[in-house]
Amino acid sequence: MKSDFVNKRKEGIEPYEIDSKLAISMIQNMLNTPLESIFSIGDIKNYDLTFAKGTFNYHQCSKCSEPVYETGIRVKDNKYICISCGN
Ligand SMILES: [Zn+2]
Repeated sequence: MKSDFVNKRKEGIEPYEIDSKLAISMIQNMLNTPLESIFSIGDIKNYDLTFAKGTFNYHQCSKCSEPVYETGIRVKDNKYICISCGN
């Protein structure tokens, strides 16, 4: 989340406008990161899986500026907010 790519995204620059070398660098860092530091593995829990209808509509999170499909974004205080920022 501190990569040059993410910093550009936080500035509101769209992914396709960012030099692909920055994305490749971020991906290489991710691939070289030990799995334990990316994932936390715990007990398996059962839950009811529901499928939302597919959509191409999206909104930009008011906090992190990330574009999020409308099925994954919430409205809080009349502002769009992604699930990550809302937690
Ligand atoms: Zn967000």
